[in-house]
Formats: sequence, structure tokens, C-alpha cells
Amino acid sequence: MLVRGALPSQNLPVRDSDAGFEKPKKVERVARSVVQDQPFASGENKFCYKNLKELSTRVQKLVLKDWSLTVTDSQVRLRKLEVPYVIPTLDIEIDDSLGFTVRVFGWFLCENHSIYKSTWRSLRNITVSNLIKEIEQLALCIGHTESAFSGDCLRHVLPMEIDSFDQNEFSSPFPSKEYYRAKDCEILILGSKHNCNICVEKEFNKQQAMKRRQARQLVPAKPKAPVSLTSPQRIKLALQTQRLQCKQLQSEIKQMKLEIEPQSIGVTQDLSHDLLSIISTSGEYNLNKR
Ligand SMILES: [Zn+2]
Repeated sequence: MLVRGALPSQNLPVRDSDAGFEKPKKVERVARSVVQDQPFASGENKFCYKNLKELSTRVQKLVLKDWSLTVTDSQVRLRKLEVPYVIPTLDIEIDDSLGFTVRVFGWFLCENHSIYKSTWRSLRNITVSNLIKEIEQLALCIGHTESAFSGDCLRHVLPMEIDSFDQNEFSSPFPSKEYYRAKDCEILILGSKHNCNICVEKEFNKQQAMKRRQARQLVPAKPKAPVSLTSPQRIKLALQTQRLQCKQLQSEIKQMKLEIEPQSIGVTQDLSHDLLSIISTSGEYNLNKR
């Protein structure tokens, strides 16, 4: 109970010395979760190799049939040679950062090949033996036919060993095998197929273009088409068409003459002029009317 004239001393608001208002209590913000590098479940490093030195040491212990191994300080190279080819069937180059490059008969594997994608193109993610196993499971793309060969395709030549016992005088002095490939051919594909999708698509497009070109050859050239840029076949067709039209017109004129002549009446020169002027005036009048 307040006594008149007395100052209140209880339940007073807490006052800030500067603002004179009650300060709201600061609520501590909950820390947001951030992405953290989780250690491996087993607590061990999952990389297949730590560095090139470890890789080369372990690779030298592997027994790889038909493969030759070259080890330097900055590179490990594995090459598979098969008879009768002169160049390696498969060539794997591993650099000092454990990145690798695959060549098949000298042809580089395309950058977006599944082998590169699945391993991130690094031997930290796959062992050499497994990589070889995966590559050897794939088949060589046979490319497309020679008829579909054009500027955006490449000829892939595989030189072969010379057979010294070959007595055939017609055999080439430089034996080789050839493939015609799209520039971005996948080269190594799953065994169930013969061509990669790129080569199949390229061949299909070429065939379609060829069909269109053949169909165009059957159309006569236009009267003002440039002779240097038009195929002889189309010019020949245009000439035949023109001749046919001339022949038809001539026969029509002949027919008209035959019909007109029996019914014609002889007129003087003056009357002929008058008639011609009437007909021409009438023609102009009709044209203006339209
Ligand atoms: Zn291909």
C-alpha cells in the first residue's frame, strides 16, 4: 500500500543507464550446421595410391601378361602389344599426380568416356589392375563405312608387321588395317555393340544427306541456275524439259494454224491495220479495266 508522499521502492522496472528503458534479454542464436569434412568410416585413407612412387612400386609387383612397363620419376607407362600390330593396342600413361591417359592404337580415349568419368580420371580411385581389367572388357569401335567418310571424319590406320614369308606380289609393302571414325569416336565400347553411338549417328546423317543429294539430282535445274555450280545431270534434265516444252508449243501452234486457215477470209491491208488497232486497243482497255 502506497503512502501519500512516499517514493515507491518495490517492483521498479530495471532501467538502462543510457536509454532509460528495460533491456530485452539477448537470446543466443543457435549455431547453424555447416558442411564438415567427415573422416572415412574406417578411419583410413581410401585412396588406392598415395603417390606415384607407391604406385610404381606396387605395379612392378603385378604380373601383367602382354603388358610392358616403363617407370620414370614423373611417369609410369603401361603398353600392351599384340601381334601383328606395330603400335600398342592399349597405352596407359600415368603422370605424377596419378592422373592417367588411355590410348587405343594411338587414338586418345574421348574426354567424357565412362572410364574417365567413373574414376575421375585418377588412379587414386582405382587400382591399376582393376583399370586394366575394365579397359580390356571393352571392345573396339569399328567406326563407320568408307562411303560415309568426309571432312569431319578421320582415317584411323593401324600399321601391321610385314610378313617376310608372304610371296603374294599384290600384297601391300606397308600392311595396315583402316577404320573410318567420327572425330569424337568413343573408340572403346561395351562388347555387345560394334559401333559407338557417335559413329552410328554420323553414318546415319551421312546416308540421309546422300539420299537428299540423290533426290535433288532428279530435279531439273532452274533456267537461271549458274552452270558452274549446277551438276551436269540437272542441266541435262533442264534441257530435256525445255525441249519437250518447245515441241509441245510448236505442235500447238501448228494445230491452231490448221484450224484457223480453212476459216480465214482475205482482207485488204487497210482493213488489216484497222482490225489490229481495234484488237490492240481492246486489249489495253481490258488490261486497264482489270
Ligand atoms: Zn566410334
